[in-house]
Amino acid sequence: MSIQVLKPKFEIDECLEKVRECLEKGWTGMGFKTVEFEEAWKKYTGHPHAYYINSDTVGLHLAVKILKLQNGWQDGDEIITTPITFVSTPHSILYENLHAVFADVDEYLCLDPVDVEKKITNKTKAVIFVGYGGRVGRLEEIVALCKKHGLKLILDAAHMSGTRVNGVTPGAWDGVDVTVYSYQAVKNLPTGDSGMICFADAENDSICRKMAWLGINKDTYARTTSQGSYKWKYDVDYVGYKYNGNAIMAAIGLVQLNYLDRDNARRREIVARYNKGFEKNAKIQIVGANYPDECSYHIYELVVPDREALLAELATHEIYGGVHYRDNTEYSMYRYAQGTCPHAHKVSQHLITMPLHMWLSDEEVDEIIRVVNNFVK
Ligand SMILES: *Cc1c(COP(=O)(O)O)cnc(C)c1O
Repeated sequence: MSIQVLKPKFEIDECLEKVRECLEKGWTGMGFKTVEFEEAWKKYTGHPHAYYINSDTVGLHLAVKILKLQNGWQDGDEIITTPITFVSTPHSILYENLHAVFADVDEYLCLDPVDVEKKITNKTKAVIFVGYGGRVGRLEEIVALCKKHGLKLILDAAHMSGTRVNGVTPGAWDGVDVTVYSYQAVKNLPTGDSGMICFADAENDSICRKMAWLGINKDTYARTTSQGSYKWKYDVDYVGYKYNGNAIMAAIGLVQLNYLDRDNARRREIVARYNKGFEKNAKIQIVGANYPDECSYHIYELVVPDREALLAELATHEIYGGVHYRDNTEYSMYRYAQGTCPHAHKVSQHLITMPLHMWLSDEEVDEIIRVVNNFVK
């Protein structure tokens, strides 16, 4: 049996039951289960607002767009983010004709507040922080920094479904303006593709609901469930997008949410087993080892001398590692920033993602540890 790096596990019968409800009701689009999921997510996380969308990528775009609109940012203004992320993160800045400035990462592979502060100019308007692997890193210091310099703070929480610090969801902290989650196929709370955008501010949330639905000021579900004869009547306030989520995905998400804490607890068990297996290997550096918080651990990363050789060795045992992520300043689109984040650049050449998911047995984890330790020495 081969071992994949990421592999979702679905509660299939329960998911089918909830999808069946949508099919029987004849409601598979926006509304119904999407509303239920938003309510369930707010309750689970403590976010005051939540809007269900079709991906984290579109959520990041909405976050940047709405903050730009509401705060009068100009084209060419700057947002600081990390080069160790999926390209959705910097793309969301460029979608809105803003300039992506990259700051270096710390030992958690999250933004380093010291370097962020150095990268602030009079054009800087916001920071997009990525909770890499589910960790919060120095987010608290970034919050303080944003307050000090009057910057908005966007949290790309694609890896962070279920992460808590002292029982609190970090995206709901005071000072985080908007948090975006991913429920993409291999994330901790998998659907097919979808996500959630959670603004701290009620007006921003209300604009977002229109912006994600072509700019229409009253969605079809609201019109269907409202009283009176003007159900069909709506106005269009913005040149919006079709970024909304649908009831079929929400049905799956609602079921998976019930198992998120159980699954994340299992992830922490696997991580503890890996940590123990690798801690004595002087050639291996564990990213964010012995992290104290209740972390979602979306991915497990090692820093090794020869990443390519280890990937190849693992493959001969039908164990498939991954790479999350290449330094984004190596991509043609972001090459202008090459050399601005030396630590990120160096570490990204040695990063390997080890298998971490619900299908892994303890025996398989031990086998992976054995193969790695036999090879890296
Ligand atoms: C997966 C991911 C995204 C994109 O999420 P989608 O829901 O697929 O759009 C963005 N940022 C990070 C850090 C991710 O891991």
